[in-house]
Amino acid sequence: MMELTIQLIPTGEIILSPGKNGENYCHNCKVVTSDGVRAMMESALTARDRVGVQDFVLLENYTSEAAFIENLRKRFKENLIYTYIGSVLVSVNPYKDLEIYTKNHMERYRGVNFYEVSPHIYAVADNSYRSMRTERKDQCILISGESGAGKTEASKKILQYYAITCPASEHVQTIKDRLLQSNPVLEAFGNAKTLRNDNSSRFGKYMDIQFDFKGAPVGGHIINYLLEKSRVVHQNHGERNFHIFYQLIEGGEEDLLRRLGLERNPQQYQYLVKGNCPKVSSINDRSDWKVVRKALHVIGFNEDEVEELLNIIASVLHLGNVQYGGEDGNACITSDTQIKYLARLLGVNGTVLTEALTHKKIIAKGEELMSPLNLEQASYARDALSKAVYGRTFTWLVNKINASLAYTFVVVCCSFEQFCINYCNEKLQQLFIELTLKSEQEEYEAEGITWEPVQYFNNKIICDLVEEKFKGIISILDEECLRPGDASDITFLEKLEDTVGGHPHFVTHKLADAKTRKVMGRDEFRLLHYAGEVNYNVNGFLDKNNDLLFRNLKEVMCMSENRILIQCFDREELSDKKRPDTAATQFKASLAKLMEILMSKEPSYIRCIKPNDSKQTGRFDEVLIRHQVKYLGLMENLRVRRAGFAYRRRYEIFLQRYKSLCPDTWPHWQGKLADGVATLVKHLGYKPEEYKMGRSKIFIRFPKTLFATEDALES
Ligand code: ATP
Ligand code: MG
Repeated sequence: MMELTIQLIPTGEIILSPGKNGENYCHNCKVVTSDGVRAMMESALTARDRVGVQDFVLLENYTSEAAFIENLRKRFKENLIYTYIGSVLVSVNPYKDLEIYTKNHMERYRGVNFYEVSPHIYAVADNSYRSMRTERKDQCILISGESGAGKTEASKKILQYYAITCPASEHVQTIKDRLLQSNPVLEAFGNAKTLRNDNSSRFGKYMDIQFDFKGAPVGGHIINYLLEKSRVVHQNHGERNFHIFYQLIEGGEEDLLRRLGLERNPQQYQYLVKGNCPKVSSINDRSDWKVVRKALHVIGFNEDEVEELLNIIASVLHLGNVQYGGEDGNACITSDTQIKYLARLLGVNGTVLTEALTHKKIIAKGEELMSPLNLEQASYARDALSKAVYGRTFTWLVNKINASLAYTFVVVCCSFEQFCINYCNEKLQQLFIELTLKSEQEEYEAEGITWEPVQYFNNKIICDLVEEKFKGIISILDEECLRPGDASDITFLEKLEDTVGGHPHFVTHKLADAKTRKVMGRDEFRLLHYAGEVNYNVNGFLDKNNDLLFRNLKEVMCMSENRILIQCFDREELSDKKRPDTAATQFKASLAKLMEILMSKEPSYIRCIKPNDSKQTGRFDEVLIRHQVKYLGLMENLRVRRAGFAYRRRYEIFLQRYKSLCPDTWPHWQGKLADGVATLVKHLGYKPEEYKMGRSKIFIRFPKTLFATEDALES
C-alpha cells in the first residue's frame, strides 16, 4: 500500500507526503503537447516585463532582494499568486477568491509535467502524487509561512485536488468524505480568530493520506501537537476563544442549550469576554455550527458521543464562570449554580468537585491532608482544569477522527508557545537547506555534471543551543522545573547565563552591549535565530513547561461518568509515580520524530507569504513581504538553486520547443536527443561556458541565454 501524507506544523507548517511501494502499476502520464509547452513559456518568458518571471531562477539579478520582491509584486498585481524557485512554490495570499481552483483547473494540471503549465498548487500536488506512483517513493509537501499567509487554505486545496482527481470506489468515497470533513471539525475545535487571521490554526497538524496501488486514497491519520491551550482561559484584546464555543452558543438548538445550561450570549461567559470580540464579520458562527454538526456525523460520531462532547464544551464555559470569594484568604466558591451544571455535565460528584477546586491534597507525615487554596491558587487550579479538559478532549477528538480514517497513530500534545514554534522553524529550516542542497547535488551527479560547493549559513549551531543534551536551553529549563526549592523563572534565566552565556546566538540584558540593553528587559533572553533576533520573556516558562494539574483535580476527572472524559483522564496517571515529561521535552521528542519522517520522504515545498497585515485584497506591503522573504530563507534557497545553473530541461522538451530555430533539427530530429540539442545550441551560438550537457538534460547557466533563444522564437 502506498501512503501520502500532509503535515501541518505549529506555526503551522504543513507537509504532505505520498508513500510506500506500490504494486505493479502502469503509470498513465499525459503526453506533453507543444501547446502546453508554449503556454508555459509564454507566461514565463515572453510576457516577462509585465507579469514577471514565473520561476525566480530566471531572474538575471538573482542575488538582489529588490529584484525578487519586484517580481513578486508584478505577479501579484496580475493575480498571479504562484511563482516557483525551481521546484519550490512561493504563494502570496490574494485575500480574495480567485477563479483558479475549478475542476477545469484540476484537469489542466493532472498528469502534466511541472514546468509545462503556469505555477500552481495543483502542479505541486500532482507532481508529488505522480512521483509517489512512478518512483514509488514517499513524498511530503511542506507548507510554511506566517500566520494568515495561507497554509491551511493551501492544505485544503491539496486535499480537494486529491479528493476530486484520484480514482474512487464506494469505500474510497467514504474515506475521501471523511478526510474532507475532518477539516471543519478540527478547525472548529483547534482554530480561533486572532489579530492576524480570522481563522488561525492554533495547533500543529500532520496528516497522512494512504493510497492503494491504484492510486486511490484508502485511509489517513492525523497527528496533532502543540494546541494553544492557554486560549481556553484567556484571549488577547481583539481575539477569540476557539470557534466551537461561539458556534455552540449561536447555533445550538434551544433545547440543547437548555440541557447544557447555556445562554445564547457569549458575553455571559468569562472565558469568552477577555478579547471583547464576540462577533467577527468574516465568520458566521451559526452556519458554521451546521457544517460542523454534519461533519461530525460524516466522520462517524453517533448522537451520544456528540452529546457527551458538547457536555464537555459547555462544562468549560461553566468552569470559567466559577467565582471565588473568601474572607480569611481561603478560597470558597460563591455560587453553586455552575457546580450543579458541572456535576451533571461532567458526570462527577459536586461536593468532591467543589473541594478539589478549593483545596490541594498534600501528604504530610504519610498522611493525606486537604490544604485550602488561596484565591489566586484556586483560580489557577480552575483554569488548569479547563485547559486540561479542553486539551485532552481535543486529543481525543483527533484520535476519534483517526479511528474513523481507519488508522491508529500516537498522538502527542503539549503546551508551549513561541519558543517551541521558533525552535521548530529552526529545525525545519535546517532540513530545508540540507535537502535542497542534497537534491541539487544529486541531480548534478545523476546528470554527470561536476558539483561546485555552495556556501550557506548552517543553523545547526542554533538548533544545538536549544536542544543539546545537558547544556541546551531545554535541558536547563527541565533541570529548573525538577529542582525542588527556590527554582523560578529568574533562576532559570541565571542558569542560562551561566551555562550558555558565551554562546554567539544568545544574549541577555546583563550580557548585552549598551545598545541592545536598551531594547531588552531584565527578565528576557534573546536568541539570534536564522530569521532574525527574538526576545523571550522568561515569565511563565517554568509553569508552562511543567503544565501541572493538581492531583485531586485529576482524581475527580478519573471518576467522571462522561465516557469521553474517562478516556482522557486515565487512572494509570494517578498511580504512576514517575513525573511525566515536561512540555518542552515532549515537544522536542515529537519534533525529532517528525524530522525522521521528513528525512525519509521526498520533499516539496510551498512557501506562503502574507501581503499585508490588514487582510486586504490587492495591498502589497513591501516591508512586511521583505521580512517574510528573509525568514522563509527564500534568497538563500534561490542562491543554492542558482549556484550552478539557472535553467535545466529534459532534452526532448528543449528540442521540442526550439527545434524550429535550426534547419537541422526542424521539423524532426531523427538521431539521439542529446545530439539534437547539441546541434541546436551550436547553431544558436551558445558558448561552452554558458551551458552543460547532462545525461538527460541541458543545464543553462544564465537566464539571458535562454531569453535570447526565446526572443529568437518570437521574431
Ligand atoms: P495560521 O498560521 O494562523 O493558521 P494560515 O497560514 O493557515 O494561518 P489561512 O487560514 O490558510 O492562514 O489563510 C488566512 C485567510 O486568507 C483565509 O481564511 C482566506 O480568507 C485567505 N486565503 C488564504 N489563502 C487563500 C487563497 N489561496 N485564495 C483566497 N484566499 C486565501
Ligand atoms: Mg492555519
